Amino acid sequence: MVKVGGMQKVNPELMSFIFAAVSKDTPAEGAMLSVMMLPLTLKCSSCGKIGTREDTKLLCPFCGSLNVQVVSGYELTIEALEVESGMYTNE
Ligand SMILES: [Zn+2]
Repeated sequence: MVKVGGMQKVNPELMSFIFAAVSKDTPAEGAMLSVMMLPLTLKCSSCGKIGTREDTKLLCPFCGSLNVQVVSGYELTIEALEVESGMYTNE
């Protein structure tokens, strides 16, 4: 599982393609990569609310203010990598 923050302009299909390329000839080859897109979380300095956006616009989702801070949304972490144990033979 890869968690991708909303600020990372990552295409999940592209991620899977890259993963397949980098995992080739490794025990992870053929493993499924699940990508989870995380919403962009913003804290508004104008109205004080914290909200999430599905897009990457840096605007308060409540009042539309540009005076916002990014709380989260830059994540790009590999949460878990499931490898079929039977697929790896140490020849
Ligand atoms: Zn606001």
